Amino acid sequence: MKLPAATLGMAALAVAEVAMSNPSATGSISRAPFGVTPQGVPVEIYTLRNPLGMEVRIATYGGTVVSLTAPDREGHFTDVVLGFDSLDGYVKASPYFGAIIGRYGNRIAHGRFSLEGHSYQLATNNGPNSLHGGKVGFDKVVWTVAHSGLGSLGPQLILTYLSRDGEEGYPGNLSVTTTYTLLNDKNALQIEYSASTDKTTIVNLTHHSYFNLRGGEGDVLGYSLQIHADYFTPVDATLIPTGERRSVAGTPFDFRLLRFIGSRIGSADEQLKFGRGYDHNWITGVPRAGMGVRHYVRVNATVLDPVSGRVLQVSSSEPGLQFYSGNFLDGSLKGKGGRTYGFRSGFCLEPQHFPDSPNHPNFPSTVLKPGETYRSTLIYQLAVN
Ligand code: BGC
Repeated sequence: MKLPAATLGMAALAVAEVAMSNPSATGSISRAPFGVTPQGVPVEIYTLRNPLGMEVRIATYGGTVVSLTAPDREGHFTDVVLGFDSLDGYVKASPYFGAIIGRYGNRIAHGRFSLEGHSYQLATNNGPNSLHGGKVGFDKVVWTVAHSGLGSLGPQLILTYLSRDGEEGYPGNLSVTTTYTLLNDKNALQIEYSASTDKTTIVNLTHHSYFNLRGGEGDVLGYSLQIHADYFTPVDATLIPTGERRSVAGTPFDFRLLRFIGSRIGSADEQLKFGRGYDHNWITGVPRAGMGVRHYVRVNATVLDPVSGRVLQVSSSEPGLQFYSGNFLDGSLKGKGGRTYGFRSGFCLEPQHFPDSPNHPNFPSTVLKPGETYRSTLIYQLAVN
């Protein structure tokens, strides 16, 4: 497999301004209109290309990765993420395809938590719970382009968003920056988040691409998956963690060695029943003493498609990884090129802090205080096998 065992670029990026739409040995970046939101806000789409031929298109609506191409073992590039051809699809009914997820990735029980003696009630949008930031999360807002150009590592797009105090019930004005870099020397998309607040708050950002390594054809059950985790966090029937840290040994959650996604997904297991398949958080990293104390990137998971030969490797600085096997896709969505997205036709690997952490003091903290900087790095690397 042509994948580095070691971790990837963490160096500070020296960004050089260059003319846009000007392909060169160091890749290119260009922009185009991508429609207007129902509120009348214009949306743009940026196309980043690296010298190896990989291309990613990112919309300012939700910071959404609309497409991402990768070669198969014959060198044929295809788009490996699910999505829509136009803004309309994303605005109307997207299950978070390709989006930035925030202010809090995954669920918070009953949308409630307490911080420094104050109780907060978030917008609930998933049964009794708050999911992915509430009714209007970071996936449904238009981000501001702070910079686009060719950095020393590759073409780069920097988006910012100011989430106001009280938005969706969260305390504090949270200033967020997302930096997308398409690396020049490997087919990898690097996503770096940073955030700061003026009032103690919680933050847990992630990325929500649905991958289909055959260009959107078929389901993902025949791909093999490895997750570097000895434990996962079991959930209740509403997918809220019980607080337990459970060993994967002897369960269908053991992906320490490569296993087909579909081989045990139908097992009679209460956790699989609750998730309608895999929709759980694996403990991929060591808990941090506090936000930003240690920040290093390590490999969390690898997915191989034996048919196309495409391999996806996900690395991050996060302590958890949500693996979601697309169990809520049901064929009702018309995606790119009129294709319908059936049951389990895409999977998500979302590096993040654990779901519902604000209500579990034994989980790594997601609290951010004024004067601190939240940082998170995610890398999605495509290779062939
Ligand atoms: C969650 C799923 C949810 C999906 C939304 C995932 O991150 O874990 O439960 O249905 O996002 O599309």
